[in-house]
Amino acid sequence: MKNIYSTPFYANIIKNLEIAGMVNDTKNATIQRLKFPKRCIVVSIPVRMDSGEIKIFDGYRVQHSQTLGPFKGGIRFHKGVNLAEVVSLASLMTLKNSLLGLPLGGAKGGVAVEPKNLSRGELERLTRGFTSAIGPFIGPDKDIPAPDVGTDSQTMAWMLDTYSTESGFSQTGIVTGKPLAIGGSKGREAATGLGVVLNIQKVLEKQNKSAEESSLAIQGFGKVGMHAAIEAHKIGLKVVAISDISTALYDANGLNIPELVGFVKKKNLLKDYDSAKQINNDELLTLPVDILAPCALDGVINSDNMDKIKAKIIVEGANGPTTSKASSYLFKEKKVIIIPDILANGGGVIVSYFEWVQDIVWLFWSEEEVKSKLKMIIDRCFDRVWDCAKKHSVDIRTAAIATALKRLEKAMLLRGQI
Ligand code: NAD
Repeated sequence: MKNIYSTPFYANIIKNLEIAGMVNDTKNATIQRLKFPKRCIVVSIPVRMDSGEIKIFDGYRVQHSQTLGPFKGGIRFHKGVNLAEVVSLASLMTLKNSLLGLPLGGAKGGVAVEPKNLSRGELERLTRGFTSAIGPFIGPDKDIPAPDVGTDSQTMAWMLDTYSTESGFSQTGIVTGKPLAIGGSKGREAATGLGVVLNIQKVLEKQNKSAEESSLAIQGFGKVGMHAAIEAHKIGLKVVAISDISTALYDANGLNIPELVGFVKKKNLLKDYDSAKQINNDELLTLPVDILAPCALDGVINSDNMDKIKAKIIVEGANGPTTSKASSYLFKEKKVIIIPDILANGGGVIVSYFEWVQDIVWLFWSEEEVKSKLKMIIDRCFDRVWDCAKKHSVDIRTAAIATALKRLEKAMLLRGQI
């Protein structure tokens, strides 16, 4: 068990927790409790492949904390998924949900698989097998999964159906991020990317800068990155670079985002788009832009490239894209403002929370209502964190974690957990 806590990703999270804990005298007991997840569920999932062969996949669900409410967090299908990574991501969910003021705890799940190598039928059988295996531990008032890397609304639809079939009744509240036709929420698909852009707008506002005079590079063009690009384009930000697993595209005058969205929605990879210059993903991170939004992987801004970063604002659409060392270097030596993952990509879980609430009351909101409520929460959290950073002369990540810790500690004290 011990080595799951010794990965660089988790070490970064713990270090950040300890630093933030010093800002507002968080009790040692609070930090100690949050260093360990409440429950780790490890499952093996036998799947009959199209060839007739049975293949076994490893799956995980980590329930980190339920101090503030039911466990909540995404499901990742990626070949690199392992228990240590899921523990790290689950702990970030606890902090995120606390920071955003949601009545939810933190969890994460995943299966070690490259989904692109599976047929649709194999993917469905894998999803159903995984849902059955973690079934006893999840539920609309226990633990509510959502999409993450490599999963989408169809994955959620299969999870919902499997869980409902096994419990004997329709249980739409079991997952969020599901299709509208089976209880999804308007605005969920775009929510994380929209949240990234609402955060960008807040930083620009604090610096008296306009969107039109700013340039943006986005790493990743999936559920988060693509919608961040769409929303950024809508407000007049110049999106000069985007990337996916195959390549990165760059145009200093601004890329044609609507055309690129159409291109990728037809299942094309960016390497096959020939109306923009191709660069590699590492170059994208060090472009001379005003704003950089890493929206793909963790650990991409690190000791190897931190001195080459030129952006003055980094908005973390992905979870954990900046290592602790790079974060501290960029803040102290280059005065870079980093809006951390738990704030920057909070739009997804905020609208997931709205979806969950709508499923409980069976009353569905308009897209405008969802968006205005999302903006209200992000603006409020942003201002609170910004003020905390100014008050204590710390970076935004430290202020965000300190704010999350404060709410968690209060609840832990009231519940007699510490
Ligand atoms: P996704 O699978 O939809 O998209 C990932 C994107 O990253 C794809 O464009 C993929 O091609 C690209 N990519 C993969 N490997 C790459 C590489 N080596 N270099 C460059 N690009 C690469 O995943 P997503 O849901 O957009 O999630 C992205 C990040 O955002 C993850 O860290 C996830 O945890 C985080 N996040 C997602 C949500 C959500 O609502 N989906 C919410 C909060 C945080």
